[in-house]
Amino acid sequence: MNIIDKRNSLASHRSRSYRRRSRSAIRNIAIHHSATTSGSAEAFARYHVNELGWPGIGYHYVVSRDGSISRCHDLEVVSYHVGNSNAHAVGICMVGDFRTQSLPDAQRQATLDLTRYLMRQLNIPIDSVWGHIEFPGYSWKPCPSISMQNFRNWLREEGATLSGRPSPAPTYVAGVRQRTILSRGDQGDDIQALQERLDELGFHPGPIDGIFGPQTEDAVMRFQRSASILVDGIVGPQTREALRDFESPTERPDHGSPTDEPDENEEMYRSETRRMLRHIQPMMRGEDVQEVQQKVGATVDGIFGPETEERVRQFQRSANIVVDGIVGPQTWRALDRVAQSNGVSYQRLLSVQTPFLRGEDVKQVQQELGVTADGIYGPRTAQAVRDFQRSENITVDGIVGPQTWGRLFE
Ligand SMILES: [Zn+2]
Repeated sequence: MNIIDKRNSLASHRSRSYRRRSRSAIRNIAIHHSATTSGSAEAFARYHVNELGWPGIGYHYVVSRDGSISRCHDLEVVSYHVGNSNAHAVGICMVGDFRTQSLPDAQRQATLDLTRYLMRQLNIPIDSVWGHIEFPGYSWKPCPSISMQNFRNWLREEGATLSGRPSPAPTYVAGVRQRTILSRGDQGDDIQALQERLDELGFHPGPIDGIFGPQTEDAVMRFQRSASILVDGIVGPQTREALRDFESPTERPDHGSPTDEPDENEEMYRSETRRMLRHIQPMMRGEDVQEVQQKVGATVDGIFGPETEERVRQFQRSANIVVDGIVGPQTWRALDRVAQSNGVSYQRLLSVQTPFLRGEDVKQVQQELGVTADGIYGPRTAQAVRDFQRSENITVDGIVGPQTWGRLFE
């Protein structure tokens, strides 16, 4: 086992630091993937510190695809990777996106060796080695996107050769029936086709064996959650259609950015446990979409379409954060932050729209600017906003986003 000690060389926050614990507080080993196709302890540390503002990298260990291991923290450090369970867990992150990539032998072997070593050192049983998704509150998170059942079996079978996916057991009943509804207990070619499709989309259903068991059901539910359709673990017409049309989310630019995980810090925790919202097909729906739409000034219909995406971009531009039209942890935090600023609360992006935006917040802006306070955001108000922005030396666009709002009411 090749461990490189990087405890003193990785990026860390200038003023914040992680709390510490005694080793006896550690109850779980948490297995993650980075959800990026490449990366390193250095890149993740920079991302966690510079982009997310964490005290340091979120993981205790990072295992690269060639099997080399970076040690990032003392075990006593309570870093951020499994939310409310951080205090009791040690985090191991395997570099890779196992929704689309396979787990290389060298990396798997190194991760198993490291896990066994930590189990011995901390006296942790196999059943307490959990995937991120198995921690309370994370059943929605496709991390580490490998079967943890297999992983624990591998831990048991020290030394056994385990390359590749288990070959399909020829136990299913081959058939040509075209069933319209598939559910737990069903077997056959159509189940195998379903499993292959789920696997291809990154919702690994366990062994591709033509048997609709609990792992397949779980994969169907994870898929349904991602597709924002009814989550019941049953494949009917709606799920079938969504399976056909679903596009796996494309790789994010290059952040080297696992978005694991926050801490007990309420604001951070909330933003991390909320869905990532973006414009995909089928379009995402829900109350969280409505909340975003209201805050960025888009039509509030609860469907994340192109208009919402554009408003999110405007919001990000005015909040001075990465402009990608995606509501991830950083944007959620920005949305939360502005909502609480300065007594007069910011609720939404104000701009000239058809029909004109109306409301109490518009009136407050007008009063502050000394124009007629009729509560209607028209061209005259936008002009006064531009003048104000010019005088404040901030972006002149006639739009009241968080930054302009902050300057007006600070
Ligand atoms: Zn994770």
